[in-house]
Amino acid sequence: MITVTGARKNYGDFAALDDVDIEIPSGSLTALLGPSGSGKSTLLRSIAGLETLDDGIVRIGGDDVTGVTPQKRDIGFVFQHYAAFKHMTVRENVAFGLKIRKRPKTEINRRVDELLGIVGLDGFQQRYPAQLSGGQRQRMALARALAVDPKVLLLDEPFGALDAKVRADLRTWLRRLHDEVHVTTVLVTHDQEEALDVADRIAVMNRGRIEQVGTPQDLYDRPANDFVMSFLGSVS
Ligand code: ADP
Ligand code: MG
Repeated sequence: MITVTGARKNYGDFAALDDVDIEIPSGSLTALLGPSGSGKSTLLRSIAGLETLDDGIVRIGGDDVTGVTPQKRDIGFVFQHYAAFKHMTVRENVAFGLKIRKRPKTEINRRVDELLGIVGLDGFQQRYPAQLSGGQRQRMALARALAVDPKVLLLDEPFGALDAKVRADLRTWLRRLHDEVHVTTVLVTHDQEEALDVADRIAVMNRGRIEQVGTPQDLYDRPANDFVMSFLGSVS
């Protein structure tokens, strides 16, 4: 479980996070959904330890990690623009985190095989990132983030740069991966359809605040206010 309590983040006199409270259940796939500038990335980066809050507490699995460095938070992160080692093969990229942790070779091979299988990249292990499509690269990024078995997987608009068909395809892969691995996952997106399609729970953000948290069904049946209603209603 991830718990954020009373989170504030100011840029000058602008509040990017304005007293945010949220509980993210372990094993869930939770979407942070909201328009551009609503504070989604700031909240995600605060969970990761990449932003320092002006006020508030972040707990992961019961531990207060508020002052803890990102490296010590045991988190996998995937961004919109994939970060891969260009000179390493797909297999080497996914294995890298395990290698630097000096895990036994047999364990590394087993884990890498398993993850590349789940994301459908079995046949692409010896390719280099430049030889993959955009969707395949993000599938590699997911496998790489999960290889070291993090407590939490954080995804910031991971499919944002790709076209609609590839995005829809990647949602299916993410869902499949989540159903296999059950890691607590937080997905930032401004795409209502993506959140409704893939998430167990959605937190709707607006102007640095959380307007409502619930299942996709809850949000549709009982939108908390006009903002939630109109934002969900504007699915393209
Ligand atoms: P989202 O991810 O929902 O699009 P962000 O969390 O990136 O929103 O940003 C929330 C608000 O905070 C935006 O108005 C953005 O301009 C502002 N902001 C984010 N980072 C900075 C920064 N480093 N300096 C100043 N303003 C920032
Ligand atoms: Mg953002």
